[in-house]
Amino acid sequence: MLITEFDPWKSNMCTCPLKYSLNPYTGCSHACVYCYISSYIKDPFHSRPKKDAVREVEREVKKMKDTTFISLSNSSDPYPPEEREIGITRDILRVLNSYGARFQIVTKSDIVVRDADLINDNVVSITITTRESKRVEPGAPSTEARIEALKTLSDRGIKCTLRFDPVIPGINDYYAYDVIHSVSDYVEHVTSSTLKPRKDSLARLERVFPQIRWRELYCENIGGSYYMPKEERLKLMLGVKSICDEHGLTFSCCREGFDINTGKSCDGSHLLWER
Ligand code: SF4
Repeated sequence: MLITEFDPWKSNMCTCPLKYSLNPYTGCSHACVYCYISSYIKDPFHSRPKKDAVREVEREVKKMKDTTFISLSNSSDPYPPEEREIGITRDILRVLNSYGARFQIVTKSDIVVRDADLINDNVVSITITTRESKRVEPGAPSTEARIEALKTLSDRGIKCTLRFDPVIPGINDYYAYDVIHSVSDYVEHVTSSTLKPRKDSLARLERVFPQIRWRELYCENIGGSYYMPKEERLKLMLGVKSICDEHGLTFSCCREGFDINTGKSCDGSHLLWER
């Protein structure tokens, strides 16, 4: 199955609406230092297109409920550098359009602009976490390229959101104002969350940023993910929310358990149904 239910385990921390997940690629060449796919995907930082993906999506999309939508992608990026040559995500968008399926693209890449003609009234969420993206997202396009992509999509009338996610204290929390301010004319909503590493991503972060006392900071384990204490997380999320308020943007946090959201959905997907 390529189109699968998102969060089939129904985690208590997840407030996402019913949606489907679709990953055109296995693994992700963006190789973000904080990424947790290394806990369940072999050769995690090398994108490989899924075999027969376009045909399989066409077979599966016919069975989808038309009241929901597909999120591309959650365990990889639909626009790794390989997509420029391979074009599998573009072919999948064509199929989704031919069946009228709604979708939300979640990416760190400006390659998404190439497919603006296929996005129509669907939603694009671009993740930007810092101005120094090569430190934490070495294989992904620069922050400036992502901002430019949001501008281009927004100029073309496509609804966009920002993911300022994950927030890592001491690494990118102080970029919140700069990032949100830079894209505030191009996005309608911001989704944010604090970093919640798994065992292996925590070990990788310890190697890359030894100056942070990770084990002291991440002292709670909830469902296999490490969490900072609630007060720390709330302080960070309220900080991001106040910047969104200042810029007239709706805000939601993801898997935090806080009742502070001003957006109608945590993932920005409400924009799919607002016209
Ligand atoms: S873009 Fe997403 S899936 Fe890809 S390496 Fe970064 S965090 Fe992981």
